[in-house]
Amino acid sequence: MTEQQYTGGFSERVLAWFDKHGRKHLPWQQNVTPYKVWVSEIMLQQTQVTTVIPYFERFMASFPTVHELAKASQDDVLHHWTGLGYYARARNLHKAANMLVDKYNGEFPYTLEEVMDLPGIGRSTSGAILSLSRNMRFPILDGNVKRVLARYYAIGGWPGQKKVENQLWEVAEKNTPTNPEGGRCANYTQVMMDLGAMICTRSKPKCDECPLQADCIAYAQGAQTDYPGKKPKKTLPEKSTYMLVAQFNSQVYLEQRPSTGLWGGLYGFIEVSSIEEGIEQLNKRGISVDETRELEGFRHTFSHFHLDITPVVAVVNSAPTKRVAETVYRWFSLNEPIEVGLAAPTTKIIQQLMR
Ligand code: SF4
Repeated sequence: MTEQQYTGGFSERVLAWFDKHGRKHLPWQQNVTPYKVWVSEIMLQQTQVTTVIPYFERFMASFPTVHELAKASQDDVLHHWTGLGYYARARNLHKAANMLVDKYNGEFPYTLEEVMDLPGIGRSTSGAILSLSRNMRFPILDGNVKRVLARYYAIGGWPGQKKVENQLWEVAEKNTPTNPEGGRCANYTQVMMDLGAMICTRSKPKCDECPLQADCIAYAQGAQTDYPGKKPKKTLPEKSTYMLVAQFNSQVYLEQRPSTGLWGGLYGFIEVSSIEEGIEQLNKRGISVDETRELEGFRHTFSHFHLDITPVVAVVNSAPTKRVAETVYRWFSLNEPIEVGLAAPTTKIIQQLMR
């Protein structure tokens, strides 16, 4: 396959490529609705397609409509997200579903601004929802599209900088097909994502298969991987914590975290700066600890810091009594699946306990 097959302007060439090679069988591309596109776009923000597919299918089976999602409990929604990470995405989906029901009777609005007013939906996701599901003319600029455009036009600098991002939006806008009636805005949006994911990949772009090769500046310069510019590096701060795992027979004690902040709304173990503090905290919750045992520590890295976690099992031999601390909590059996949202380190510790 070579680029010579592709002629015409930017959008004509990429659309011709789409007809032959574009993705058309993803689950969210079947009987397309704004709801399906929205959920898939949010899942795909930080996650690869192959990982997303089973999550998407389970999510749709449990919450087939905006109304079903709005009615669900936050715990249930977070449970369906367990393992995907970046849980604010799930909390925002749930919140936005409630807004859609309250304000729009569960229908998606039609303007970019109204869609962008929903929690967790930025300009690019809003454009993707409206163009993919309704063929409306809105450009998108996700990570894949940024890479294709930055290379094609040799736009240097890190796209996190406003100036660079604005330049990219300008060319994204310019290339989006202009005739919405009978136009191919949906296919155009899809192909830009496909090219970034399948051809113009981060480290080894397949330029010989690319419909844009003939006039791609980065290709001509042999400088594909110089674009887009990298984020300036900074070393992440390191923090450490103990996670106290109160264990009574085969049950472990988990508390729901406040709905905002790190792992908001998920269930987790008590986090403390020393084992003594952990025992004290458990005492306040009517749990008396008989002995403690450290498990293997591990590092969890967030976008803005490293967290070194030491899990400590606090063995509890007598039934918990009156509580002083006001917290939402549950005792979960290790022998049954835990059907609430759990942060990755919580799942990891539970796996260690079950070894
Ligand atoms: S020719 Fe290569 S670098 Fe240029 S857009 Fe295509 S795949 Fe990307």
